[in-house]
Amino acid sequence: MPIIHPYISDLRTALQPYRSQQRIALVPTMGNLHDGHLELVKIAKQHADIVVVSIFVNPTQFGVGEDFDSYPRTLDDDAKKLATVGTDYIFAPHVDEMYAVLPPSTSIRAGAITVQLCGQSRPDHFDGVGIVVSKLFNIVQPDVAIFGQKDYQQLAIIKQLVRDLSYSIDIIAAPIVRAVDGLALSSRNQYLSPAERQVAPILHQELQYLAQQLADGAHTQQGLAALIVESSTRISNAGFNIDYLEVKTLQLEALNNKTSKSPLDVQDLIILVAAWLGRARLLDNQLINVNQ
Ligand code: AMP
Repeated sequence: MPIIHPYISDLRTALQPYRSQQRIALVPTMGNLHDGHLELVKIAKQHADIVVVSIFVNPTQFGVGEDFDSYPRTLDDDAKKLATVGTDYIFAPHVDEMYAVLPPSTSIRAGAITVQLCGQSRPDHFDGVGIVVSKLFNIVQPDVAIFGQKDYQQLAIIKQLVRDLSYSIDIIAAPIVRAVDGLALSSRNQYLSPAERQVAPILHQELQYLAQQLADGAHTQQGLAALIVESSTRISNAGFNIDYLEVKTLQLEALNNKTSKSPLDVQDLIILVAAWLGRARLLDNQLINVNQ
């Protein structure tokens, strides 16, 4: 079983002997682990000798009225799952071990990238992610850290954080792990009723439909706008409340030149969606693979 450390100083002492000769990987999570998280650990093991998984439901990334209190906390089960994939250490601090005061006096502002997509409905979310990930990087001082591509905007913000704050950490992006019906795995999927769970894969199906349409290469930006309206209508009619459905560049820049009649260069594009289904806010995205 992995060794669980709730205290920063104990984790640091445990990791110290490895630092000169061995590579340390960090996999940050909020726990309630599923196969998507375990895949991140498997990838971590390919890049490092020692794998640390952090399990921390971080209050600074939850807004007022969000699910901080009800977020599932399942440390014992998580530890058992992490044992099956060879995790060495679990860092599972209490809130007061991470934050002397809340909100913390020091803040991380990740800037323009945070005020779009998820940042529109969760204005302080990514600043909260920024501070907790900075703290985890400083506590664990890993050589490499693994983040899921499912949270694509978060991944982009972490890469920016590493660049801007000169962390000497390689960031590895892990592909999205899905259920057999295509729904991206998420701890929040358990908020879905059985009927909602049946409907949920429609989100991924619409992303695939849009990606396929764009991959044929024939669409201008105006054509894309029409496709998005068409998909949004189907998603809404299935019972979702759409937060956003957007196509961006891989750097999360807006597509410019809206009036251009020339077909889009789709290799550099990603489709991103967030939508509520009942109590669950589901997040997904799809790269456009022109070779498919
Ligand atoms: P969370 O516990 O939801 O904060 O997620 C912790 C990490 O696991 C993040 O880097 C997520 O992007 C990643 N992750 C969550 N769900 C998946 C999934 N279905 N596939 C791949 N990575 C995931």
